Amino acid sequence: MTMLLDKLGRPMHDLRISVTDRCNFRCTYCMPKEIFGRDYAFMPKDQLLSFEEIERLAKIFVKLGVKKIRLTGGEPLLRKDLPHLIERLTKIDGLEDIGLTTNGVLLEKMANDLKTAGLKRINTSLDALDENLCKKINDSGVSSTHILKGIHKAKDLGLEIKVNMVVKKGLNEQEIVPMADYFMKHEIPLRYIEFMDVGSTNGWDFKNVITKKEIYTILSQQYRLEPINPSYIGEVAKRYRYQGSNAEVGFITSVSESFCSTCTRARLAADGKVYTCLFATNGFDLKEMIRNGVSDTELTETIKKIWGSRQDRYSDERTEETAKNRKKIEMSYIGG
Ligand code: SAM
Ligand code: SF4
Ligand code: SF4
Repeated sequence: MTMLLDKLGRPMHDLRISVTDRCNFRCTYCMPKEIFGRDYAFMPKDQLLSFEEIERLAKIFVKLGVKKIRLTGGEPLLRKDLPHLIERLTKIDGLEDIGLTTNGVLLEKMANDLKTAGLKRINTSLDALDENLCKKINDSGVSSTHILKGIHKAKDLGLEIKVNMVVKKGLNEQEIVPMADYFMKHEIPLRYIEFMDVGSTNGWDFKNVITKKEIYTILSQQYRLEPINPSYIGEVAKRYRYQGSNAEVGFITSVSESFCSTCTRARLAADGKVYTCLFATNGFDLKEMIRNGVSDTELTETIKKIWGSRQDRYSDERTEETAKNRKKIEMSYIGG
């Protein structure tokens, strides 16, 4: 089959699947309590794609070129029986890699089942080692000690683990070095993520962004960093090794150094809508098609059309205006 390319010549290599829009955290930069409070209307269960529907779509995406799938959310470990879905996905012919992004609250409890199901890689989000600050950021009273237990359990089981830290000015920049120290010592790759203008509810402002350059400067006072060549085209993180160590650190520079020209990611929301950019306003409802009884061929042709007409390059074109005023899907809905 000829490679499916979008309007800017980018292939479709990755699929992020959000399995729920619910979360047991209320991270202040993602699901602020004032918006995602008790009355917030999450998706009703029957509106979520079932595991059968996810598997069916995943198979079609893989036939169209997807090699990697990442499960996300909301908090994906809240989705009942998630290991069963992983087990099904690992059997898809042609799929090379399945990863999971989690806040780590349920990781200690579930790491074994995830491993047994065939999962190989986990990214855990942790924004501070300081207990009070960690609790303040997740706004749910969960300690960093608890999340670290999950991280170490997963690592001890042989799962490949990375840690994601969102850095926001005025919130957690004092944790940049302690996080590097800790994860270097444990040889767990750490990724610093620039605070992004995803969604419309997190009060994003450019003045709250700490750029890769600034983080790098702070780290350089402590460590010598050597760049690592990207392991594949489209690798999102800019990676470095601490000199004299095997440990690495990376940066996700969506704001300061956009990487749209190599963006190969499609995103499937928990309600079955497919999006071609993290900062999109609208998606296309594949669930409706499935529940109307369409064939795999019709789904395939639809996905081909969607990807074939893709022109997204939001981060390349970001302005104060688009960042503040454009209506965008929420991060907790699409999963990052
Ligand atoms: N709940 C899971 C978690 O937190 O790992 C998965 C979903 S979460 C939306 C995926 C990633 O997005 C997390 O690493 C989170 O820190 C990051 N994230 C959320 N809001 C963000 C923002 N405004 N800017 C940058 N990263 C953000
Ligand atoms: Fe939940 Fe993840 Fe968003 Fe935090 S970043 S509120 S853990 S979805
Ligand atoms: Fe991809 Fe959109 Fe992010 Fe650009 S802004 S890298 S197109 S998801």
